[in-house]
Amino acid sequence: MGNENRELHVLFFPFPANGHIIPSIDLARVFASRGIKTTVVTTPLNVPLISRTIGKANIKIKTIKFPSHEETGLPEGCENSDSALSSDLIMTFLKATVLLRDPLENLMQQEHPDCVIADMFYPWATDSAAKFGIPRVVFHGMGFFPTCVSACVRTYKPQDNVSSWSEPFAVPELPGEITITKMQLPQTPKHDEVFTKLLDEVNASELKSHGVIANSFYELEPVYADFYRKELGRRAWHLGPVCLSNRDAEEKACRGREAAIDEHECLKWLDSKEPNSVVYLCFGSMTAFSDAQLKEIALGLEASGQNFIWVVKKGLNEKLEWLPEGFEERILGQGKGLIIRGWAPQVMILDHESVGGFVTHCGWNSVLEGVCAGVPMVTWPMYAEQFYNAKFLTDIVKIGVSVGVQTWIGMMGRDPVKKEPVEKAVRRIMVGEEAEEMRNRAKELARMAKRAVEEGGSSYNDFNSLIEDLRSRAC
Ligand code: UDP
Repeated sequence: MGNENRELHVLFFPFPANGHIIPSIDLARVFASRGIKTTVVTTPLNVPLISRTIGKANIKIKTIKFPSHEETGLPEGCENSDSALSSDLIMTFLKATVLLRDPLENLMQQEHPDCVIADMFYPWATDSAAKFGIPRVVFHGMGFFPTCVSACVRTYKPQDNVSSWSEPFAVPELPGEITITKMQLPQTPKHDEVFTKLLDEVNASELKSHGVIANSFYELEPVYADFYRKELGRRAWHLGPVCLSNRDAEEKACRGREAAIDEHECLKWLDSKEPNSVVYLCFGSMTAFSDAQLKEIALGLEASGQNFIWVVKKGLNEKLEWLPEGFEERILGQGKGLIIRGWAPQVMILDHESVGGFVTHCGWNSVLEGVCAGVPMVTWPMYAEQFYNAKFLTDIVKIGVSVGVQTWIGMMGRDPVKKEPVEKAVRRIMVGEEAEEMRNRAKELARMAKRAVEEGGSSYNDFNSLIEDLRSRAC
């Protein structure tokens, strides 16, 4: 049998955080839909989230045991970084995942995959794959722009030449005059060394790996896709936006955790609104705001006069005491807004025609999901590379306006954003000429995104290149 007819077997190994698992499974769905034998490896407590997101796709799940809490020092039952809520626990969690190496290698021995697509936070996976003579491809779920900014900052350290946390500097060598400040750089001061060491390992293993899959499409960021490959010399395939692998309402509704709202109720509410008249607010899978901040958001939303769906990461049992006096009757009771407490079916909501804007923390998945929905965005970054992604929306593709945050959440000097900037930013993306222009640009990008993943599109073709490459190696 010639190589071209041989069945390729690809093993996915997502990092156990919701924001990493979800795009990895979306990507696995792309592989399965193109007829590739696809297996996802995870630990038992992550299976429900993964199997919901897989839905009817032809993907096998294999489990390996998560190390015990005696071995790791993590609380019992903590197998997903989203339940390791303090920064100390996150570091403990990252260390614990190193112990997954032996179980993964044992599984590879049994499964004989032709390639391992492992998350960036498993730098050791490159060596594991090499043991079995197969390529390791990195999936970090990000696009080219934030990856290029990170690489230039890491290489040229422009932050060492400024005298304060707030002095702006341009990112050296990067096309497009991108200006940032030291207080927006991805590092947690307390864990600087541990985390910086991990990021160095991640970078080294990426360079040693077979290449990187970007969750992006060429037309979104051609300058940075070229820079990444030609100037930074990395091998990469752009196969995104992977969220588009969820095609119908059921797939979109089942993606991720079980929603805290009945999907039909949610769709009914959206159906009752005019096109582009609802702003959707969600700050990712992990951010929980203080009561003071939630109150300012509520006041800002009310003052903006817009319909809204607002995702609040507070338990259903907690009282809504932070809501302004009379808000429930005035706003929620009048059908002007919906608060979802817990997990929202984000892609299902964003893709509804009555949603006309998105207030986002700028995780890359959310950014791309907003792009695919063709909506302007308010950027409200929190940490990690989110400030870079926010710049991408406001300065590069020009479909975003900033709410004005300048520093990581939890850092000194980050007071709650007041109601006035919330109101102003929401209005700017929802009504008026500027909103219309941004919406037109966003809709054009959304059309390009859909074309990219269709037969003959740029992401579709790059998938073919990756598969050809893997086939030529498998024998
Ligand atoms: N998400 C969702 N419902 C929620 C919160 C998040 O479906 O209530 C999804 C969202 O669609 C995205 C992912 O979870 O695919 C979050 O990834 P992102 O990179 O935006 O942010 P992170 O959570 O990693 O900070």
